[in-house]
Amino acid sequence: MGFDLGAELAAVRGQGYDLHSRYLNPQLPRTLHAIGFDKIYERGEGAYLYDAEGNAYADFLAGFGVFAAGRSHPVIRKALHDALEADFASWTQFDCPPISGLLAQRLLAKAPGLDRVFFCNSGTEAVESALKFARHATGRGRVVYAVHAFHGLTAGSLSVNGAEEFRKGFGPLLPGTQIPLGDLGALDAELRKGDVAAMIVEPVQGHGVLMTPPGFLAAAAALLRKNGALLICDEVQSGFGRTGTFFSYQHEEDVRPDIVTVAKALSGGYVPVAAMLATEKVFGSVYSSMDRVMVHSATFKGGPLAMAAGLATLSVIDDEGLVENAARVGAALRSALEGLAGTYDVIADVRGRGLMIGIEFGRPSSVRARAGWAMLQKARVGLFAQMVVVALFQRHRILTQVSGDHMEVIKLIPPLMIGDAEVALFTEALDDVLKDASKGSGLMWDFGRTLIKQAVRS
Ligand code: PLP
Repeated sequence: MGFDLGAELAAVRGQGYDLHSRYLNPQLPRTLHAIGFDKIYERGEGAYLYDAEGNAYADFLAGFGVFAAGRSHPVIRKALHDALEADFASWTQFDCPPISGLLAQRLLAKAPGLDRVFFCNSGTEAVESALKFARHATGRGRVVYAVHAFHGLTAGSLSVNGAEEFRKGFGPLLPGTQIPLGDLGALDAELRKGDVAAMIVEPVQGHGVLMTPPGFLAAAAALLRKNGALLICDEVQSGFGRTGTFFSYQHEEDVRPDIVTVAKALSGGYVPVAAMLATEKVFGSVYSSMDRVMVHSATFKGGPLAMAAGLATLSVIDDEGLVENAARVGAALRSALEGLAGTYDVIADVRGRGLMIGIEFGRPSSVRARAGWAMLQKARVGLFAQMVVVALFQRHRILTQVSGDHMEVIKLIPPLMIGDAEVALFTEALDDVLKDASKGSGLMWDFGRTLIKQAVRS
């Protein structure tokens, strides 16, 4: 009997949550059951997921930012079929296939000032590469990073993670120092100590959707250069048009990072792929002679399916004007949300760039809502935002996420191809949810109490 994927999957239909409980991280199915997110999706298309009954779910999460071009994009799918049909001599390891050269050339065309590319498989691996290259190029060991920074969860990336809940219990980590995001004075003080290899920064942070202030990146780049240190921009989440420019550091003119990391959207939603882009000088330090050819490498670097997905994705982003669309639709969505903030004072801030938007909640003024707010805050900061995320999902079938632990912020990172219909859909849904929340009673608050019980128990 031969292998038949369809038959294998038919035999476990409907058993995904049980299998995960038994064999994978059991906390995932547990959490999804607890918040009522335990759906079984059958397929995805564009900005929507569909369950077996054909219900559509608006995907404002995009697989943590993977689906820039939307799900099941025909051009990307065709490129992958073509690549499979071509049946390349993959991973020979001792050859130079043109497909990775072509993708490197296309990526570098988007990042003037950078000269070379190292391909790998995940965001964290791109960040690990960046940390190693920066340390080698400067001969220094310490890296400066921002409060709330998130650069991945392998040991090196964890060393530059700005949230204690991720780091706790995994030390000792690499030497690093946390500074407030956008604080030039703090950066200067660290650089004066003479042992800083680099500063790594997300120009728009994934956790909390906080942004570097205007002019910071250019000033920081100059300061770093003066002190012989490097600027690493982590564009794993914010790159490929997400913020309305191709890379989010390009919101500031003339910022020239020494290293840029990318991943997520480059995959087209199909094949994991990531890359570290760097200057000739940084690259040349690591790969300085033939006997160092493999000093930094990975078995799966530059796989042909990943390269095909990357090439097709870049082409779709250009052909469909997704960078411009993210800027336009993002501005429309932020403006609609600011309108809601005028009605509901529980919205403390609406911020972001392009289609990377954070909605921060704060203490409401009405007496009834204030009591509920205080109750949730006492149990755990972030539960109100969680309550909104759950209500958006259960009542309106919209998928969003709380943006980082202990934060009253929800983050919107939908596919970059959404339009006015999705802006209206989301705004009307949030209006409905906040109308209910402002009453300080009802189903939503009952659920809030359930969340509190769970938070207390865990
Ligand atoms: N850097 C940033 C800015 C990210 O948002 C992430 C993931 O969310 C990473 C790095 C890590 O990427 P990965 O999950 O592919 O390892």
